[in-house]
Amino acid sequence: MHRDPLPHFGRVTLVGAGPGDPDMLTVKAVKAIQTATVLFVDDLVSEAIVALAPKSARVVKVGKRGGHRSTPQSFIETLMLVAAQQGETVVRLKGGDPFLFGRGGEEMEHLQAQGIQVEVVNGITAGLAAATALHMPLTHRDCAHGVMFITGHGRPGTAPTDWAVVGHAARQAKLTVVVYMGISGIAQIQDGLLQALPPDTPVAVIQNATLPHQRHACCALNTLQETIAQERLGSPAVIVVGEVARQLPRALQLLATQRDQPADKNIFSEV
Ligand code: SAH
Repeated sequence: MHRDPLPHFGRVTLVGAGPGDPDMLTVKAVKAIQTATVLFVDDLVSEAIVALAPKSARVVKVGKRGGHRSTPQSFIETLMLVAAQQGETVVRLKGGDPFLFGRGGEEMEHLQAQGIQVEVVNGITAGLAAATALHMPLTHRDCAHGVMFITGHGRPGTAPTDWAVVGHAARQAKLTVVVYMGISGIAQIQDGLLQALPPDTPVAVIQNATLPHQRHACCALNTLQETIAQERLGSPAVIVVGEVARQLPRALQLLATQRDQPADKNIFSEV
């Protein structure tokens, strides 16, 4: 049952923290963080962003990396609910955009069903930031009519994604495919896409986009799995599949020259 918010209840703001670089936060996100009394923080949110919170604010880390177990989703929702009911100004800091693969929708629905007011602040999603970090326009009109953001890691208990269908859609509609959470299922993703897309379809893998330790590799679709293994790329990474990645080695060479840095000899497998 949906109840009207009670006047003494606090608020919850779901804030997109962007891909990692604090300079890529929106002004609205910074304002929300600076007025929070309690923050529930996902593991992909960098320390420099958490540091924008007031000294007096309580910071609760609910992420799963760094050897810790992830806090169960229902428990996070309960913690936020209790804090909001106690009149706190709650900020839920989530990597990228809260509504792209971040379960922000579920959290909003749960809180609203309990009568809590929820605001949502967009963040720059990782797929977009990763492509731009390599100067790759995802919908360059010479190459693509659109872009598909898709997860490589479906909800447990649901049918797995049919990557051949994804490949056919990409081919027929001329779409760039941006895969989130694709590293662990890379074998199935590669095999499925190859049923529809040519083996030499260009691919870029970008790990830790926008962060100082950003790394990437470019390869053809039929060598994707081995490239990821060879270059030791891991999560968090996005995988961009499509013609927009074809000019990438050259573009990166130009970029490196512009920055007055020596270009890699074999930039095609640069990391
Ligand atoms: N809501 C987030 C996505 C959460 S799912 C967003 O909009 O970006 C987590 C996945 O996002 C990771 O497995 C990875 O695929 C991607 N990701 C998040 N941050 C990233 C980064 N800095 N570089 C590359 N990929 C990233």
